[in-house]
Parts: sequence; C-alpha cells; structure tokens
Amino acid sequence: MKDYYLSVIKFPILVSSSLFILAIAFFATALGSYYKLGLSLSETIIFTALFIILVILVASWILNLISTHHPIRPKWMLTFSKWMLNHVYYYLARAMGYVSLQKKESWQESFLNLNNEIVLSQARDVSHKNILLLLPHCLQNSECKIRITGDINECADCGKCDIASIKKMAAKYNVKAAVATGGSLARKLIKDQSPNVIVAVACHRDLTDGVRDAWQVPVYAVLNERPNGPCFETKVSIKTIEFAIKKFQ
Ligand code: SF4
Repeated sequence: MKDYYLSVIKFPILVSSSLFILAIAFFATALGSYYKLGLSLSETIIFTALFIILVILVASWILNLISTHHPIRPKWMLTFSKWMLNHVYYYLARAMGYVSLQKKESWQESFLNLNNEIVLSQARDVSHKNILLLLPHCLQNSECKIRITGDINECADCGKCDIASIKKMAAKYNVKAAVATGGSLARKLIKDQSPNVIVAVACHRDLTDGVRDAWQVPVYAVLNERPNGPCFETKVSIKTIEFAIKKFQ
C-alpha cells in the first residue's frame, strides 16, 4: 500500500519541491540584492522577468494538479499545461530525483500515474471512436513462429502468451490493437491511424518516452510485468487494459 501511494505522489512531490527551491532561491537573491545596494534598472527588469516566469511555472503546475480531477477549459489551457508537464516539469522532477537519489523507475511510474489521472479526467472532452491499443513486441512468446509486427490479428490464438487474450478483448470492444517493435513503428502507427485515444502497454522507459513523444494525444499508460527479466516474454494485466478501454467507450 505504501509503495502504491509513493508511486502516485512521488512525481508531484519532486516537482513541487523543485518549484519551492526555485522560489526560495529567487526571493533570497532578489531581496538580498535589494537590501544590500538597491536594484538598478537592468536588475529590476531581470528580476521582474524571473518573477513572471516563476508565477507561470507555479500557476501551470497548479493547473496540472487540478486537471487530474477536473476538465480544463478552454482547450488551449489544457494543451499548455500538458506541454509544461512533458517539457518542463518532467525535467524538474528528473533533476530533483537525481539529486535526491530516487530510483528512476519509481518517479517515472509516478509520472505515468499522474498522466493517466489527467487523461481520465479529461476523457469527457475527447471523441473515443478511434482507440488504438499499442503493445510491445516482448509480450509475445519467444518461440512463436509468427512474428507479429503491426496487426494483432495475425496471432493464431494458441494461448501461450497474453496476445491471444488481448486480441479477443480488442475484438469484443471493437478496438484496433497493434504490436509496435520500436518507437519508429509506434510513431508510424499513430500517424497512420490518427487515434483519439491510445492505450499503451510497455515498460517504464518506453512508456515514459512514448507518452512524452505523443503528448498531444491522450495516452493511457499500462505498465507490463517482467517475470522473466526485461524485454523477454513480458505479461500484462488484461483487466487494467479492459478498465482503460471501458473508460473511453
Ligand atoms: S498467443 Fe498468438 S502471439 Fe502468442 S504465442 Fe500463440 S500465436 Fe503466438
């Protein structure tokens, strides 16, 4: 339970604490300069610009936190907060995680959880006619004679890996499902199919890269399980994928 709780709040804590440190550093420097010698015109301009940046950083972070529970309107505001999450706060959390010796996977998992909360809370505003389920190649049984690259319907349903159950579920919910053997194929599938929503299965690193890469599309991230080590005969919770698909239908 404690691990799950941390996997949810770690990323927000890292971002919030880095913003707090930036704010302290700013006010300490600005007030220190002011009380020592007063501020010249150029210093006043620089500190004012920095103050505006700090306000934007804090306000947009608060907007991101609000977007985990409430739909954000107008749409440009949501786009802006998502851009900030993937291009600014991600790096702040990474730097803070590095400094505070956090395991990369733990804060990445928290980042993915935060992303999922945002995707779910904004789900009412997107059309869900076109859902794409993206799967990693490592889900496939290593001895399978069929090399699935793209359409999951090539699977012969032998049941030796999770692909067969996923194929069945995708047919039940009328969802397109595809296996991506790498980032380039995933990008091509997204470009060709222009999905409204993506449900993506992968490991921490690939999911984090994928979510950030396709930040303009809502991507619900589902972590795979790796009982045989990384990238080899991985597994996934079919219930979690089903949960996500049902939320979007
Ligand atoms: S379930 Fe499908 S993908 Fe998996 S091993 Fe059997 S035929 Fe291959």
